[in-house]
Amino acid sequence: MRTMLSRLALLICMAVAPLSAFAQLDATEQAIVRWSQDNAEAAIALIEQQVNINSGTMNHPGVKQVAELLEPELAALGLETEWLDMSAVNRSGHLFARQNTDRDGGTKILMIGHLDTVYELTDTFQAFERDGRYASGPGVSDMKSGNAVMIYALKALAAVGALDDMQVVVAYTGDEEQPGRPIETTRGALIEAGEWADVSLGFENGIRAGEGTEYATTSRRGFSGWQLIVTGQQSHSSQIFSERIGAGAIFEAARILNEFYEEVRGEEYLTFNAGLILGGTDIDVDAETTQGQAFGKLNVVPRQAVVLGEIRTISNAQYESAQQKMQAVVARHRPQTNAALSFDGGYPAMSPTEGNERLRVQLSQINEELGRGAMPAVDPLARGAADIAFVAPYTDGLAGMGPAASGGHTPNERLDLESIPAAIQRAAILMYRLSR
Ligand SMILES: [Zn+2]
Repeated sequence: MRTMLSRLALLICMAVAPLSAFAQLDATEQAIVRWSQDNAEAAIALIEQQVNINSGTMNHPGVKQVAELLEPELAALGLETEWLDMSAVNRSGHLFARQNTDRDGGTKILMIGHLDTVYELTDTFQAFERDGRYASGPGVSDMKSGNAVMIYALKALAAVGALDDMQVVVAYTGDEEQPGRPIETTRGALIEAGEWADVSLGFENGIRAGEGTEYATTSRRGFSGWQLIVTGQQSHSSQIFSERIGAGAIFEAARILNEFYEEVRGEEYLTFNAGLILGGTDIDVDAETTQGQAFGKLNVVPRQAVVLGEIRTISNAQYESAQQKMQAVVARHRPQTNAALSFDGGYPAMSPTEGNERLRVQLSQINEELGRGAMPAVDPLARGAADIAFVAPYTDGLAGMGPAASGGHTPNERLDLESIPAAIQRAAILMYRLSR
C-alpha cells in the first residue's frame, strides 16, 4: 500500500509541472517533455534493477551483469555495442555503444557513465528501497540513476524521431571508482572517444541546493595519490642530532608534512591530505589496501617512515606547480636523512573553460524553459573527480547531468525520483539542440 501511495504521490508531482512554461520549446521538444514524464517509472525500474546487482569495482561478474542489463537497451535503439574486456588488468570491462561515428560534420556527442560502485560484495548496503518520492540504495546517486537517464534520454530522442541522425558514443566504464592500471589501457577507449567527440556529457548525479536551485557542473578537480618514503640512520637514541646520526626518519617526515602545511597550502582549489603515516625501526606498508605495521623503540633513532596522501587540483598546471613546491620541500632534508616523494597520476582535472561555460548557458536556458529555473555553475570544491576529466582536454563538457541525488560513497545515498523526468528532458533537449 505504501508503495502504491508513493507512486501516486510521484505521479501527482509530475502532473502539476506548469505546462504553460513549455511554450518556448518547439513541438519536438514538447514531445520529449511528455515522453519523459510518461516513461519516468520505466526509468526508475531500470535504476532498481541495476542497484540490486552488486557491482563493486572488484566484483567483476557483477560489473559485467550491469553491462548485460544495459546493453540490450542500447542495441534496441540501433547503437552498435561493444564489451571491452579488462580482465588482463584485473578489472571487469567497459560497455561502449556507438552510432554514426564515421560521419563528417555535425556535433559529435559522448555520453559517460560507469557500471561499478564503491560497495563491494562484503558491504552491508546492497538493496534498492523506495520511500515516497525518494529512493536509497548502493549506486542510486553514484551513478546508476545517471546510467538510466542516459538510456532514457536516447529513448526519448528515438521516440520523437531525433536519434537516428545523431552522432553518439555511449561509454560506461567498469572501474571508475578504482581505475585499473595502466591508465593507457583502462582509459584508452574513452580517451579515443573523447578525441572523436565535440561535446562530452557526464551523467553522475546533479547537485541541487535543498529543494531549490539546480546546478550545472563545468569543472571538477583532479586528484592524485602520493607516497612519501623517508629514511634515517638507525642508532641508539643517545646519539640523535649528532653529526653522524642526524634527525632520524620520523623527525624528517614531520618536517616535510609541516612545511607542506606552511608553504604549499592556501592556493584556491588546491587541497592535499596526509591519510596514513607509519614510522619506526621496521615498517611494512601495503599502499593498495592502505594498511600496515610499524615497530620501533623509544630509545632507537628510527630508520624508516612512510606517509600516504592525496592531492586535489583544479587544473593540470596547478597540479604540476604544487608537485614542484612539494618536491622542493622534500629536497631540503634534515641531517643524515633522505626522502622521496612520488605521485601516482590518479585522475586529471576538468578545468572550467569557455566552451564548458557556453554549454552551461544552453543547459540553464533549457532548465528555465522547463520551468525549473536557471542553473549556475557549482563550486568545484563540491565535487570529486570523474571519468569526464580524461576527455576534458578534447571536448566541451558538462558533468552532473544525472538526477538530483546525494550521499555518494556512503550508506546514505539518496535519489529524488521527482528529478528523473527533468534530467531526461534536459539531456535529450540539449542533445537535440546540439545536433541541429
Ligand atoms: Zn561515480
